[in-house]
Amino acid sequence: MDLELKHPVALVPTMGALHAGHASLIKIAKKHSEEVVVSIFVNPLQFENPNDFSSYPKSVNADSELATTSGATKIWTPTFEEIYPNDPEIIASGEIGNLFEGVHRFGHFDGMLTVVKRLFDLVQPKFAVFGEKDFQQLFLIKRMVAQMQLPIELISAPTIRDSSGLAMSSRNQKLSITERENAGGIYKALNLANSASDLTTARSQLTKGILAIPNFLLDYAEIIDGESFALAEDSTVNCRAIVAGWINGIRLIDNMAMSNLGNSK
Ligand code: AMP
Repeated sequence: MDLELKHPVALVPTMGALHAGHASLIKIAKKHSEEVVVSIFVNPLQFENPNDFSSYPKSVNADSELATTSGATKIWTPTFEEIYPNDPEIIASGEIGNLFEGVHRFGHFDGMLTVVKRLFDLVQPKFAVFGEKDFQQLFLIKRMVAQMQLPIELISAPTIRDSSGLAMSSRNQKLSITERENAGGIYKALNLANSASDLTTARSQLTKGILAIPNFLLDYAEIIDGESFALAEDSTVNCRAIVAGWINGIRLIDNMAMSNLGNSK
């Protein structure tokens, strides 16, 4: 494989269809290293539904342009065989991988950790940047890096939103204008929860806000301890609201630190 890189490398793994959220990760990567690799690989192992995999949006030319103008020095679009020359050793995401997103997307986090580990093996980055938007993913990658003692500095990047507050996502392009506006209600609900100063009120505000979103099919809306992923039991933990659901068959996920509850961060 032709990956002549100038180390140290900062890696930004993506599945393509890049948007301003990805661009922000690339800009953060650039602050850490001159050589910034953006990988674009839609990993079949993390898709439960083959239609979802085959219909995942693709825009390689526009991606290259956005990545380059954001600071990428290499846009790497490996083939399946490059990533998985042999049967991959599947990395188990364990109990936490079966919660929340894992309930609704069986095997998703095992596939995600497996590809991230392969990308790390192939690129050998010193830094890797991931978005807080996929909070459970970030949590599991942090844990994998710690458990395997990988010599990689993980950098987490804040969620970039559109004007309605909707967290940017490659899948949003499938929403109509009205659906996008409605989806902005997720951010409103998260803010409503965050305006509460006790956990019970935060939970009820979150539910109230989410139920107000037209045509939103809820999977979960919970407040967890962001350090353990257990449901928050008191407001002295690192409380974080996490939400996922569907609008017209498009999956939307989001989260927010509950900064008014205890020592949240
Ligand atoms: P994806 O292409 O969806 O696999 O995402 C690649 C990386 O971009 C992941 O680390 C995501 O968490 C991150 N990301 C996706 N959307 C956003 C966003 N709206 N703001 C910041 N980071 C994001």
